[in-house]
Amino acid sequence: MGAGQRKKHLVVSHGGYTVNLDTEMKAKELRDLVVSALVLALAFGIALSGGFRAFNQPSILVIVIGMAMVAVSLGFVFHELGHRLVARRFGYFAEFIMWPMGLMVALGFSLFGFVFAAPGAVMIYPRATIWGTISPSREKIGLISIAGPATNICLGVVFLVLDVIQPALLFTLGARINIWLAVFNLIPFGPLDGAKIFRWNKGIWLIAIAGTGGLFAAERFFF
Ligand SMILES: [Zn+2]
Repeated sequence: MGAGQRKKHLVVSHGGYTVNLDTEMKAKELRDLVVSALVLALAFGIALSGGFRAFNQPSILVIVIGMAMVAVSLGFVFHELGHRLVARRFGYFAEFIMWPMGLMVALGFSLFGFVFAAPGAVMIYPRATIWGTISPSREKIGLISIAGPATNICLGVVFLVLDVIQPALLFTLGARINIWLAVFNLIPFGPLDGAKIFRWNKGIWLIAIAGTGGLFAAERFFF
């Protein structure tokens, strides 16, 4: 496929206006991503510091939140961009939309020491053609969905390697949070990525959850 052809493929009409799928990102989407990343980092920081009790030691809480900013923001933003990139490569208009209620739930649960991460999602819109609209196939939805957890596994492994080379709490947290994000999103339930991968191909889902779960256990056991 030539460069010109590819470019043509990636410029699609959405809702009456034309967008370049490679470069287009609205200010609202950027804001949604930044706000979600910051709130999620706050929730992880509180949960990892022991929930309510964390506020008794504010100096430690601030350090853990600072580290979570790096680990969570990277993991979360790249997870969502992974979905968005694959969807756009398939020629679908896709954008991240924040879910304020999900962010409040994440903050609320963090006070009890755990995180329920549903800050929002990448929405994928049907493609408009002269014959009508085309929705992505089950296979394409599966591939778009697996891109998120796969990104977290890559980041998790990078943090693990860094932690082996130069042991540091930041790297341990980075590995733990990213592997956890992958495991959580692979749960085959509701709007989570796992449900869409499971519907597409149960074998691939099984390999993904077994590999990710194994890595999660190994990280807990050896690091
Ligand atoms: Zn996802």
